[in-house]
Amino acid sequence: MIMIFIFLISSVVFFAMYLNNKKKYKAILLLNKNCEKNEASNYDRFLAEELERQCNELAEKDKKIQFLLYHDNLTKLYNNTYLMEKLEELNSSKDGTEEFVLFFINIDNFKNVNAVHGYDYGDKILLLVSEVLKIVLPPDCVLCKWHGDEFFIIWENLKHSEEVNVIAEGVIDSFSKPFEIGEKQIYITISIGINIYIKGSCKVNDIVKNAEMAMFKSKKNGRNKYSFYENELQDNFFRKNNIRKYIGNSIYNNEMYINYQPQYDLVSRNIIGYEALLRWNNEQIGQVPPMEFIPIAEENGLIFTLGNWVLRNACIQNSKWIQQGFNNIMAVNISALQFEQDNFVQIVKDVLEETKLPAEFLELEITETVLIKSLEKSIKTIRKLKKLNVKVSLDDFGTGYSSLNYLKRLPLDKVKIDKTFIDDIALSQNSKSILQSIVELAHTINLEVIAEGIETNEQNKILNEMNCDIGQGYYYSKPISSIEVEKILKNSCKYR
Ligand code: C2E
Ligand code: CA
Ligand code: CA
Repeated sequence: MIMIFIFLISSVVFFAMYLNNKKKYKAILLLNKNCEKNEASNYDRFLAEELERQCNELAEKDKKIQFLLYHDNLTKLYNNTYLMEKLEELNSSKDGTEEFVLFFINIDNFKNVNAVHGYDYGDKILLLVSEVLKIVLPPDCVLCKWHGDEFFIIWENLKHSEEVNVIAEGVIDSFSKPFEIGEKQIYITISIGINIYIKGSCKVNDIVKNAEMAMFKSKKNGRNKYSFYENELQDNFFRKNNIRKYIGNSIYNNEMYINYQPQYDLVSRNIIGYEALLRWNNEQIGQVPPMEFIPIAEENGLIFTLGNWVLRNACIQNSKWIQQGFNNIMAVNISALQFEQDNFVQIVKDVLEETKLPAEFLELEITETVLIKSLEKSIKTIRKLKKLNVKVSLDDFGTGYSSLNYLKRLPLDKVKIDKTFIDDIALSQNSKSILQSIVELAHTINLEVIAEGIETNEQNKILNEMNCDIGQGYYYSKPISSIEVEKILKNSCKYR
């Protein structure tokens, strides 16, 4: 009995939500009172069953309304309401990939089809086109019908830019055969506009508009084509993709090489060392700066191979120079990921042995990111490197969190003041004072100071006056090939 009463109460409440009619609502209140009084009669039970039936009917109608709201009448594909809501959702979503793709498909010369063969025939074409698209598209594509003869495809799982071309070509190819409608054969071609879109970078209306613009480009270029909407963000996306694509074989294809930027003693003006700076020249994408490809190599794990390659080749080079009598230090940039490897010290040791470079002529440049992750582990690694006699310097000093106080704990040899600091010293007295105290404090804890990015005589003079030890920058020399370094060494550097 209790179950029946609970059911009756909930049915009544549910029904009340559907009805606005006052009279009916009064009847329900009455029924509700009866139920509360445990006076459910056969009539009440009959009413409850009737209510359930009507609720089911309403739910069914609601489902139909939902379907009509979000689907195209003719093709039964998702419609423009669905497309816009889905795009809004994707645009504000932080999940999944950073970007998604919007394909805008328009049937070429569809107006003529309608004009020549009539609207019924046109509808049949639209149905056939929608069927073809359903078959040819990967299952994770969302196909929507827009206005008239226009379709949209939303695709979220983009990993490589070429996949977009594959989908677009597949769609165009699927229309290479004629449609047969009754006795008539008809050839259909389509034009596609593609917008690879970075989530949150503009409004939904613009995403659609830009895909449409790309579609017009295909029409303008002769139809039966696909074109991309181009902007800076997309250029970046394609470039990143190309870097990812080509970097894997860069060493194998001999595309990587090293330039060396000389470091000078600010007092004697002699070369005392060089920084090894990695360079990549790829046939397809040209010269790629390390600021672009190092983060990608870190992302895909290639940094270990690249890093070892630079370390080994820089050591080979310095070993040769030392044999020629130029006893200078080779500084090599070490990524945080390399430095964190458990066998990093062993790798360095092996390279030194193999290349026969005395350890005191190797310096490793690490950045603060290494220290932030695990200070204790970093201190241990630096100690082991010092035991080998390898030098360690802290690169980009002044850009992050490091205070000299905290540097005291690290068994470093040098701090390398970042270029941004050097840029300011000739312009601002404040920057000059800060730098002056950095140099003094560094000296009190026995650290040498290197200034990077010296570009003018004035900056060089100021640094010299504040007793900065070493300088590096375009004022002295840009990063240059080993051949050019050798020329400078032979012309100006005294043999030791
Ligand atoms: P970094 O270690 O701070 O290197 C100094 C950068 O400043 C170099 O850029 C150098 O060419 C540039 N530079 C030097 N003097 C001047 C100057 O007077 N004016 C100006 N405007 N620039 C100057 P580059 O070669 O493009 O390297 C950029 C960054 O890429 C490096 O910054 C370093 O973080 C990274 N990198 C380069 N080679 C390697 C490598 O072999 N391994 C790792 N992990 N990172 C590397
Ligand atoms: Ca460096
Ligand atoms: Ca730097």
